[in-house]
Amino acid sequence: MAGSLHGLPGNLFVVAAPSGAGKSSLVKALLELDSHVQPSVSHTTRPPRGREKHGREYFFTSTAEFDSMVLGDAFVEWAHVHGHRYGTSKKAIEDRITHGADVILEIDWQGALQIKRIYPNAVLIFILPPSWEELRSRLERRGEDTAEVIETRLVNAANELAQAKEFDFVIINELFERALFDLKAIVHAQRLKFLSQRRLRADTFRALGIL
Ligand code: 5GP
Repeated sequence: MAGSLHGLPGNLFVVAAPSGAGKSSLVKALLELDSHVQPSVSHTTRPPRGREKHGREYFFTSTAEFDSMVLGDAFVEWAHVHGHRYGTSKKAIEDRITHGADVILEIDWQGALQIKRIYPNAVLIFILPPSWEELRSRLERRGEDTAEVIETRLVNAANELAQAKEFDFVIINELFERALFDLKAIVHAQRLKFLSQRRLRADTFRALGIL
């Protein structure tokens, strides 16, 4: 696996958060607003939920298939999350970044840190809830989990929050619109970096005599 994204035209954004912090809604809203950002579809051994479709939310994979992908070195990272395995395939991100797309991964913190080790230029973004009370009430309002599962998620969240300090950016999702503005600002700032601008605005740079 290449150890750097330097020189590649696209950016790699990695978003992690404890469940209930609003990560999926934020990423979904960003994708709707910015067609230059593309999601990466992960592989998972968990069964589909509700209206999830193979190849859209995830590639739903048997344990045997997942094992053989691990052995075949097909993943950039993979991790056990809530009793199932999840992984980002190399294919899901490399082609797109090489072709100039910005790719966004919505994965757990273990995967995010693995990505940072492989691609030091990846931009790691952690989404925080505004408070414990709000996190609990979002999990309750979501109505997806039993009281017992919510307690487990909250215990896990305490460990997950401790990882925020390893990330490049932190967004506190108190007001959705504000958090979305913050996420867009991070993506935009990345595109304004010197190397990125020189690539995107090559004609202007050339005309100005900047190498
Ligand atoms: P869910 O099953 O609710 O869709 O996802 C459970 C957790 O697994 C979420 O935190 C999600 O971000 C994480 N996840 C999804 N795909 C991947 C992946 O490819 N790698 C890792 N490490 N975590 C993932």
